[in-house]
Amino acid sequence: MLDWFSKQRRLKIVEEPFPSEWEAIIRRNMVHYSMLGDDEQMRLQRLIQIFMAEKSWEGCGGLELTDEIRVTISAQACLLILNLPHNYFDNVETILVYPSEMMLPERKPGFFETVLEPLQPELPISGQAFRQGPVILAWDTTLDQGRHSKAEFNVVYHEFAHKLDMQDGAADGTPRLRDREEYRDWVKTCSREYLRLIQDVEKGRQTFLDEYGATDEAEFFAVATEQFFCQPVQMIKSAPELYRVLKTFYRQDPAARTGNKA
Ligand SMILES: [Zn+2]
Repeated sequence: MLDWFSKQRRLKIVEEPFPSEWEAIIRRNMVHYSMLGDDEQMRLQRLIQIFMAEKSWEGCGGLELTDEIRVTISAQACLLILNLPHNYFDNVETILVYPSEMMLPERKPGFFETVLEPLQPELPISGQAFRQGPVILAWDTTLDQGRHSKAEFNVVYHEFAHKLDMQDGAADGTPRLRDREEYRDWVKTCSREYLRLIQDVEKGRQTFLDEYGATDEAEFFAVATEQFFCQPVQMIKSAPELYRVLKTFYRQDPAARTGNKA
């Protein structure tokens, strides 16, 4: 439960007018913002104010944090929770921002783990969400994907979808849903779509969902979330059932907004 002081602090934060420079930043750096209705934009602004204030932000690898960085990331993260019951991603304390792609720190194998292959391939990544830890983002990718209306992917949506998924304790591709009926529908639909993706990838067929979604259920949900917000119209065509369950979960209909482009 939120204590009295935190509640008061939040009330005070949202009493402040939303700085016009911040709004200019969002308009510039987040394609989706212009598609939102006035009421949605107002609500998103309040979420951003609290989210920005409550998270601990760190610039890494020599990156100096600016309002532009914080606002751009906050706006995209908060889009996911715009219509969800939420507590401002309370499982995210810290956001680490690197100038560009980073190598993962090497993980030591656990005591009982037999190492058959390298635990983490040494690949540069543009983001990562740790279960009991921070979200890490590469600023250049974040900016690039946020700005471009043709961007098919979005690392902020991806990593924060992982955090939504982790809220019930498990990173298993199923976030907290409303009731049993929604769970039943979710499991049935997502399992089918996930298996379809795996089969298509194995057979070398072209897929709408990014192949990375075939890694496991958690990646499937994160990739599906990215494409739900970035390419909603295409998702309705290529994976209508997946679009439907995501629309029910997020309580948002991004495809309906695409006509609202400013
Ligand atoms: Zn991921």
